[in-house]
Amino acid sequence: MRFDTIIQGGRLVAAAETIRADVGIRGEKIVAIGKGLASAQVSGAKIVDARGHYVIPAGVDVHVHLALPFCGTVSADDYDSGTRAAACGGISTVIDFAIPYGKETLQQAVDNWQGRADGRACVDYSFHLAITNWERQKGEVKKMVAQGIPTFKQFMIYESQGWQSDDAAMYGALETLRDLGGMLCVHAESSRVLNLLIERHHTPAEMKRHGAYLHAMTRPNFIEAEAIQRAIEWAKVTRGCLYVVHMSTGDGADLVKRAQEEGVHVLAETCPQYLALDDRLFAGKDGHLYATCPQIKKPRDQQRLWQGLKSGEVCAVSTDTCTFSRRQKAMWKGDFTKIPMGMPGLETMLPIVYTEGVLRRRLTVNQFVEKCCTAPAKVMGLFPRKGSLQVGADADIAIIHPTKKRQVDWRKMQTNCDWSPFQGRELAGFAAHTFCRGRQVVEDYRFVGRNGYGRFIPRANPGCL
Ligand SMILES: [Zn+2]
Repeated sequence: MRFDTIIQGGRLVAAAETIRADVGIRGEKIVAIGKGLASAQVSGAKIVDARGHYVIPAGVDVHVHLALPFCGTVSADDYDSGTRAAACGGISTVIDFAIPYGKETLQQAVDNWQGRADGRACVDYSFHLAITNWERQKGEVKKMVAQGIPTFKQFMIYESQGWQSDDAAMYGALETLRDLGGMLCVHAESSRVLNLLIERHHTPAEMKRHGAYLHAMTRPNFIEAEAIQRAIEWAKVTRGCLYVVHMSTGDGADLVKRAQEEGVHVLAETCPQYLALDDRLFAGKDGHLYATCPQIKKPRDQQRLWQGLKSGEVCAVSTDTCTFSRRQKAMWKGDFTKIPMGMPGLETMLPIVYTEGVLRRRLTVNQFVEKCCTAPAKVMGLFPRKGSLQVGADADIAIIHPTKKRQVDWRKMQTNCDWSPFQGRELAGFAAHTFCRGRQVVEDYRFVGRNGYGRFIPRANPGCL
């Protein structure tokens, strides 16, 4: 058999099992899995030595915002730096959110986002579509699903940006997407009460006293929980499929678990920042850097989210990458309502989940692969092309060392960010090698990919596992 590349001698970790085998790659695909492939080859394939390493399906990050105009600026990682960061983080596929601005159609939003990716993306990508005006945009949904974009997002907040959806819009979208085999993603926060709390604390005296910690004080857990509860109710009565993005609270995990037990089609993801950071950071030096939306919560929420990953109500980890540099974050000038909300994440997702999850025995290595690679691909309609090590799948592979740690230092990373939420942490799980559709994009921890290689990947029906 002829191979272009053979990954030799590693331990192959899938969501279900770990085996010792080689992986044979030809063109863009995995064409063989088995022992002794090198001896069976006809002519000179490149041999990648994976002895002592885990060989996993490359990560699938289903929640990124690259070059997003937001909070009065544009997020600092674009399709160039963002997808280089993904590659070095062992991620071969990202899903961004195309958002229509003003009166733009869904098609125009897709075209705009495609324009950002064209010629720049180093790994594969897809888009979710944000619904910012259901009545105006609902007529286009069927066409978008047919183009391979079956997942849509509604924001339950962000009225001032013109993005907010009300209950009728969510109800209508869940019904429509149910019939089309699509899925509705929601940013679940309770806007009216949130606005009331922000208004109450948005005074010079309060801002002087609490600084960036007001971001946490104005978003207690019930702000997320009430919105998740309401979205679940609409999923229940419509029998539509709901996906809660960036779930940050233990309360949310409780609600999702209960609804799943009742047979409601609801899924939820969380992000490394909610698993490995907590809101005491807001009170410290440079606390404002850590502002994300929703914000990082308490240690007890972290524990509950880890437990949710283990027991299943939290199906996946994504990054919600939305990078802002120190200069951009400085726009807050002491006013917590003006902090650009978001942080870099693509390069550190796998290392954080591996180190905090597997090495601290909260997850098995198979569960790590399930949550970062396989489940996100399944839920978003990319499986088995992505997120799996099997013959016929895209050769999207990451090779990681089980214990060797590297220190996080933004200066040595691909991100355009000049700080890291995990600066100085010693983490295992960085990609020694990453492949995307058969092409090596990271070799010995160095980026070796190229701009324009990454391709739009149309997706099939998403949904419950
Ligand atoms: Zn987001």
